[in-house]
Amino acid sequence: MNIDSRIARLRSLDREHIWHPFTQMADWAKSDPLIITGASGCFLKDVRGGWYLDGVSSLWVNILGHRRREIDEAIKAQLGKVAHSTLLGMANEASSELAGKLAALVQKSFGAGRLTRIFFSDDGSTSVEVALKMAFQYWAHKGEKQRTLFISLENGYHGDTLGSVSVGGVDIFHSAFKPLLFRTGKAPSPYCYRCPLGLSRPGCGLECAAALERLVEANRDTVAGVVLEPMVQAAGGMIFFPAGYLKRVSEICNRHGVPFIADEVATGFGRTGKTFACEHEGVVPDILCLSKGLTGGYLPLAVTVANDKIYNAFLGGYEELKTFFHGHSYTGNPLACAAASAVLDIFDKEDIPGMAAPKAAILKNWLRDMETRQFVGEARGLGLMAGVELVADKETKKHFPWEQRVGWKVALKALEKGLFIRPLGNVIVIMPPLSVSQPNLERMLEVIAAAVSECAG
Ligand SMILES: *Cc1c(COP(=O)(O)O)cnc(C)c1O
Repeated sequence: MNIDSRIARLRSLDREHIWHPFTQMADWAKSDPLIITGASGCFLKDVRGGWYLDGVSSLWVNILGHRRREIDEAIKAQLGKVAHSTLLGMANEASSELAGKLAALVQKSFGAGRLTRIFFSDDGSTSVEVALKMAFQYWAHKGEKQRTLFISLENGYHGDTLGSVSVGGVDIFHSAFKPLLFRTGKAPSPYCYRCPLGLSRPGCGLECAAALERLVEANRDTVAGVVLEPMVQAAGGMIFFPAGYLKRVSEICNRHGVPFIADEVATGFGRTGKTFACEHEGVVPDILCLSKGLTGGYLPLAVTVANDKIYNAFLGGYEELKTFFHGHSYTGNPLACAAASAVLDIFDKEDIPGMAAPKAAILKNWLRDMETRQFVGEARGLGLMAGVELVADKETKKHFPWEQRVGWKVALKALEKGLFIRPLGNVIVIMPPLSVSQPNLERMLEVIAAAVSECAG
């Protein structure tokens, strides 16, 4: 088949049968998307043979590059044994091996004996669902069934299932489903550039954290847990916490005896410069959600890690019905666990956060420079995770009109220059694989800077 008819065939199969996520399909039908057929390192190859820098790490999951030899081999070796067997009623070698390695990594970051129990699921959303159900049922087992209120943040994102949407706070994604959601308490987002409380740093004294504490106090008898993305509200617009905020929230949770749930689905595995983002403020959650980077971006897998206090509350006689009634068909899938095991071996052998550090420094300098430019309101980041917020007017921080789709235009322009990125509205997201080379990172940043000046003007 010649190349043109091959492309036409793939294009029409996609157009006729696939409903793409987060995509207005009426627009999609008119578009000419890349059709990826291969990859190597930080590059994706399309059906025409063009190579594109994977500037979103294939939606934030690919931390070590594509076709990383050790991960490829681990999956192949596991395929030679068994692809899948269930964790309902039996154990499997791959999930046990992974659990041991993951417990060791988590201990290295959070201390021995703090976060000990690993519950497997399939993606970030389910890892959060599991955390919410665990925290709720933990209280029920302690005789406090009235504790049904979760407190989370405006601009938070925890996934797309209804439980995780309930604790989410991104209106554009979530408002359509409001009638289906359970009630939660929403604390203000620590979004200093556009402080929802109209305050400014450092004089504010972290009033946003105080507001969260008042919410906990006002609901002291019904709070089941506090859930947030530590250090950065990612999908909500790359909003980075002011220093001290995370620590304050953790202290509030400890003071009130409320489980602190850290959703590190996006930040885990070195993305922010530490293995886990909680480490930036020396904070230890009661429940930790991990997914995206866990398998190096190879296969869907997630874990919810709980401490002994939570776990022990579920122990009892069979007839007491204290069992955690949750699980999925593919819970603890051996192929995915083998991929994750290979990733953790790499973390053990190589200092992944340390190797990313010089690149994070390059990114930080670039952000500082970007912030001086016209139409850049704020350029912010931590580790190899950053956002450039474009504004129509720097003085007034006026947004570009939503319909103008400036972020989207920047992404299209970048694609012409060989870089794939995906913005969040008018926030340009910088999220390369942690393994990106310095020249490739520099190239990526040059392309974005050029695309911004061509599109925002
Ligand atoms: C992406 C993300 C999720 C959801 O993960 P999925 O794998 O898309 O279900 C949850 N929490 C955070 C912080 C995320 O970034």
